[in-house]
Amino acid sequence: MSSAGTLSLTNCAVLDVRTGQLSEPTTIRVREGRIREIGPTAGTDDETLDVKGRTVMPGLIDAHAHVMASDLNLAGLPKESATLLTARSIPILRNLLMKGFTAARDAGGADWGLVEAVDTGLIPGPRLFISGKGIAQTGGQGDFRARNEVDLPDYCAHALGSMSRVADGVDQVRHAVREELRRGAHQIKIFAGGGIAGGVPLQYSHFTVEEIRAAVEEARAVGTYVMAHAYAAESILRAVEAGARTIEHGNLITEEVARQIAGRAYVVPTLSALEGRFMHADELGLAPVRQRIRDAVDSGLRGIEICRRAGVKVGFGSDLEGIIHPYHWLEFQLRSQVQSPLELVQSATLINAEILQMEGQLGVVEVDALADLVIIDGNPCEDASILINDARPLGVIKGGEVVRYDY
Ligand SMILES: [Zn+2]
Repeated sequence: MSSAGTLSLTNCAVLDVRTGQLSEPTTIRVREGRIREIGPTAGTDDETLDVKGRTVMPGLIDAHAHVMASDLNLAGLPKESATLLTARSIPILRNLLMKGFTAARDAGGADWGLVEAVDTGLIPGPRLFISGKGIAQTGGQGDFRARNEVDLPDYCAHALGSMSRVADGVDQVRHAVREELRRGAHQIKIFAGGGIAGGVPLQYSHFTVEEIRAAVEEARAVGTYVMAHAYAAESILRAVEAGARTIEHGNLITEEVARQIAGRAYVVPTLSALEGRFMHADELGLAPVRQRIRDAVDSGLRGIEICRRAGVKVGFGSDLEGIIHPYHWLEFQLRSQVQSPLELVQSATLINAEILQMEGQLGVVEVDALADLVIIDGNPCEDASILINDARPLGVIKGGEVVRYDY
């Protein structure tokens, strides 16, 4: 349909993700990309799609994606051709959308050109909320230089394949943030501690509080925020004290730190990226750190339980890259061990919409929301296996456009 026409979805069991309840069969009217009316008496217009009593839920949101990371060798990507990398991102974006992810927050790598290509329909994909390049300190996570590379502290700031750039000191951090915002970043990503991919120990904290605060000030000045990569409890606390709004990964959070950040920051765990590496450890050359990866998954699951108890809102991210891109089902499966089906759905819809500063616009099937919808069988708020197994939903609608309809 054209985005200007009216589409009526009839016989919808609408999923209220706030309560987990399905409605009686009803009609959803969509016009100009938004939901205009929901109700049994809603008229049927230009085009009608009978969903035959199936569930219509909000499109899923991945709050930690890397749509340009077509290879797990992150240090190698900046040396690749920009056109080749763009071409490789196309199936990654398409697959995300076909799996029902109608929005994705890119945690480093995607640029404004990709946003434009998706928004204008050149590339099918989720709505993108990009970070540009994540800000890393010299020698920290995200500084992917080899030890013999010395003279290019800014080497990665201009290569499309680089998901990060190096900045040190308050002035450089401010400049890097302003530069990423100028180039179209929707939010700012900083690497506030060690990680798995770069080999910097998880326990290390990065940046001074003043540096992080400078990034936060610059982001806030234009109405956005900082997302901080941090595993260790101390790194998490420093980042939140400096004003970071979301903590990425957060595996090693403690009860004490969770209590201190509750109501101030969201945590976006990303377990499938770790579990996927564990599953492919031999072919990825990760056999020597297999146990370290296993431990990180286990601590991540404990971290989610700690956040739940402390009242920290938990978003849904994946952090998938390279050959493990298809593993969103694994993120749902792992979390189903510690989150109820309702919490799992809310993480990937309601809470992620809050994270994107898109409450009421994304993550809900309500009047005035953007018409990003997924059609499935059953109620995933009662049965998480629907999300784990349903890698390809029956239907996907984005901005009122039917991008997939399979029955
Ligand atoms: Zn990431």
